[in-house]
Amino acid sequence: MSDSIEKVKCLIIGSGPAGYTAAIYAARADLHPVMYQGMQPGGQLTITTEVENFPGYPKGIQGPQMMEEIKQQAERFNTDIRWGEIVEIDLSKRPFKAKADDGKEILAETVIIATGASAKWLGLPSEQEYNGYGVSACATCDGYFYKDKVVAVVGGGDTAAEEASYLAKLSKKVYVIHRRNELRASKAMQKRLLKLPNVEMVWDSIPKEITGKQEGFSKAVTGVIVENVKTGEIKNIEIDGFFVAIGHQPNSNIFKGQLEMDDAGYLITAPDSTATNVPGVFAAGDIQDKIYRQAVTAAGSGCMAALEAERFLADQD
Ligand code: NDP
Repeated sequence: MSDSIEKVKCLIIGSGPAGYTAAIYAARADLHPVMYQGMQPGGQLTITTEVENFPGYPKGIQGPQMMEEIKQQAERFNTDIRWGEIVEIDLSKRPFKAKADDGKEILAETVIIATGASAKWLGLPSEQEYNGYGVSACATCDGYFYKDKVVAVVGGGDTAAEEASYLAKLSKKVYVIHRRNELRASKAMQKRLLKLPNVEMVWDSIPKEITGKQEGFSKAVTGVIVENVKTGEIKNIEIDGFFVAIGHQPNSNIFKGQLEMDDAGYLITAPDSTATNVPGVFAAGDIQDKIYRQAVTAAGSGCMAALEAERFLADQD
């Protein structure tokens, strides 16, 4: 093993509320944490609008601004925050050997995994074909392009309700396509959505394919073909934009075969703890929480992970 490999006490993978909170605590405990931000620095909150339920912001705060402030707090205590992602990790022995996407190798005494979750896709070929050309999984990122246009949102959870409500403010019309005849979204979200005059529900329906056209060197969405799962009826809805909001999947691929996870890929931690089945490896935030999935619970578990990493290192000494 080369002597030039960087050695760190605490490697934090991921930069959402869990990762940054872990960084604040680990840095204040003199663990000199090194954080790899991942493909989406700041995590899922950077693609939301208003956050109204994080304590300390009585008037609410924009998600990206909140993440920038948490980042500044982590930097204040000298967290080494880096661009890029960890693409490989060997958890079979301590110190754990990780490799970043720029080829850099790191030996870490402890690892805090806060890689979160990413949007799920339907898996239609046309969804891929028009991704970025009218198909999106983030209304707050791309909604602006559909000002006064017609869009569709797929899904029936809080994300779908939130995205559709957001789009309804910008777009001429919003179809919400849901595979059942009742929403999973919270009652408050449902109420807000269903009273919007330019929102039309397409119940009991699934998208079969997205249609589009070539526009010069570019492409554009023109419609979506939906099937009513009860009647079998197929219809074409003319739209300009198609937003997928059907939930998320945990970003746990690089830990497969190394850490215990459930069937969906969420990491399993010990009760009342962020400890994974590998001593010295902790998991915080959405990567290990499929129940609450809130910024504040992610931050809380990030704090726990840093405290547990600190105690783990103290016990080793
Ligand atoms: P959910 O898992 O709650 O909802 C996913 C929705 O997509 C469901 O309605 C589901 O249908 C539908 N769906 C799933 N797979 C498919 C598919 N292949 N084809 C068609 N439809 C599909 O995910 P969300 O992202 O909405 O929410 C995740 C968590 O985050 C929840 O706990 C939610 O409360 C929370 N959240 C909170 C917000 C807030 O408080 N501001 C905002 C956004 C999310 P079905 O209902 O039939 O299963």
